[in-house]
Amino acid sequence: MLWPFELHRSYHRRNDIHARFGGQQQGGISTPANAPGIFIFTGHGADHVGYQDVFEADGSFRYTGQGQLGDMRMISGNRAIRDHVQNGKDLLLFQQTKRGGPVRFEGLYVCGGWEIEQQPDMHGQPRQAIVFMLVPQNGLSIEAVDLATETPPDLPLVELRERAFQAALASDEASPRVALANVRARSKAVRDYVLARAAGVCEGCRSTAPFLTTMGQPYLEAHHIHKLSDGGPDHPASVAALCPNCHRQAHFGADQVALNEVLLEQIRIIEK
Ligand SMILES: [Zn+2]
Ligand SMILES: [Zn+2]
Repeated sequence: MLWPFELHRSYHRRNDIHARFGGQQQGGISTPANAPGIFIFTGHGADHVGYQDVFEADGSFRYTGQGQLGDMRMISGNRAIRDHVQNGKDLLLFQQTKRGGPVRFEGLYVCGGWEIEQQPDMHGQPRQAIVFMLVPQNGLSIEAVDLATETPPDLPLVELRERAFQAALASDEASPRVALANVRARSKAVRDYVLARAAGVCEGCRSTAPFLTTMGQPYLEAHHIHKLSDGGPDHPASVAALCPNCHRQAHFGADQVALNEVLLEQIRIIEK
């Protein structure tokens, strides 16, 4: 994880988050134009009506969307959460426990779906609220061990591609169990396709994968180009299959910005 926020540490919202990355300094959903993430705030003093926000037993989080009066609509911040996968944005959740106090970083999340629920608005009138089902990205990240012990599905590339593009579309089914299953399936569909597309050759340096796994598959890693962290689903046109060297370089190299731009352009041509 390459965002400069540590899990469960407290930050000053304006100085530590917005001064550095931009985005609206008020409200529950902050959508900076030039950072690869969306900042979500829950709890007191976030000008956020989500006193119904709740962590489920499985770690997923029910987050009430934006809009203080009347029915909520799928616009601005709400739309940004729904479409964050296609837009290559991470979701970063912060919790404020005291009005005006610091915000605590609760981690990276993936939107697994949403539902419409009747809730009171800020005047106590019943209205239709959008409730997002957010799944913690922790545990979804593409670990080397997953790649090394899996065999790819035995399907033609066109079919894997179709599945990956379909999976990247937002889903509106939203029970916690379904949301988690959605996110896992999306993540795997994108990874299966990207590895098949690479066909054992690194999409960065064009070298053959450095070794075969115990399952006899060429070893490459899935890299999410737009995001600061890997893991969770992403659009197939912004995920590259890289050898371990290129992958480290894409995250830590002095030339990482240029390298990521080249990768994006190459994949754009392939996926056109
Ligand atoms: Zn490489
Ligand atoms: Zn990566």
